Amino acid sequence: MKKVVFFTDIKKLHEALDYFDIKGFSGKTIPLKLHMGEMRNKYFSKPDLVKCVVDELKIVNAKPFLFDTTVSYPGLRHTKTGYLKLAKMHGFSYEKIGCNVVIDDTGFKVNVEDRDYEVADHLFNATHIFALSHVKGHMQTGFGGAIKNLGMGGVTKETKSKIHKDSKPVYKKDACTFCGVCAEVCPFNALKVNNKSWHLKKHKCFGCGVCVDHCKSNALTNLDMDIQLAIAYAAFACVKDKNVIYLNDVNRIAGSCDCDPFAGPVICPDIGYVISDDIVAVDKASLNLINNVKKDVFIKHNKVDPIKQIKYGEEIGLGSSSYQLIEL
Ligand code: SF4
Ligand code: SF4
Repeated sequence: MKKVVFFTDIKKLHEALDYFDIKGFSGKTIPLKLHMGEMRNKYFSKPDLVKCVVDELKIVNAKPFLFDTTVSYPGLRHTKTGYLKLAKMHGFSYEKIGCNVVIDDTGFKVNVEDRDYEVADHLFNATHIFALSHVKGHMQTGFGGAIKNLGMGGVTKETKSKIHKDSKPVYKKDACTFCGVCAEVCPFNALKVNNKSWHLKKHKCFGCGVCVDHCKSNALTNLDMDIQLAIAYAAFACVKDKNVIYLNDVNRIAGSCDCDPFAGPVICPDIGYVISDDIVAVDKASLNLINNVKKDVFIKHNKVDPIKQIKYGEEIGLGSSSYQLIEL
């Protein structure tokens, strides 16, 4: 059973880290993987928290740097220079945090189950990683935590695009009964079903897979695989054979992700901090703690079941959802 530590006061971070092999990070250069927030988003993990983590890593003589990757859609985060500018605007700078900020745009191919995922250079080359993940809702995956932070945030923009593209639905007309269920459940209003006609508005489809899950006639499949499975595989590519500590910041829980400029409103009260050396356990515990306060809040808000990424993660050997919760 995996150890997961839960605390509400960030002053207990030092004590929480003692449950894990933080001393093993000594002398190592550590990418502190986090999302530094999209322009106008106000929910991402704040510089004060990030500085607490950096200071703890320095106590054990580790050499941390803040780290993230460029994204495939237009905006400042599309390029390294643009993202660095935005990071500084959000308070992530050497002067404020005490370490460098590094953004990667290229990566190395890692093969998992016959598919290549391009893991960002600095993650690929690291032996030890500290993942700080802000937990919130997500339109395509229900919620985003550590698995999402690595599985989408740790890979190049080419792999990000491929994950999105490969999860879009493929339609088999012969099997379709034109029941219209897929159109009813699509969170993005991307489907239209009329008498003997089925139409996908491709520009509106985000590949969340909800339509595929609800079609009882097997008329819909994913082009390659469910997006939550692809993210679990990509996370596996990022952390395989590495020593990783995962800290989930389960506060400011907005309905949508840190990539969304209009991510609000907050849909659940603040929970606190959850830490583990198991990526599946830390997300499962975060989700359970949220469910205790606001049951099924993510599926109600985004209509996508967030548990899938945890189940897939466990199935592929990314981690374990069985954990012992230690409350400080
Ligand atoms: S849910 Fe399946 S069977 Fe029903 S309209 Fe959609 S594709 Fe056709
Ligand atoms: S994959 Fe998601 S967004 Fe695309 S059509 Fe299906 S339900 Fe709608």
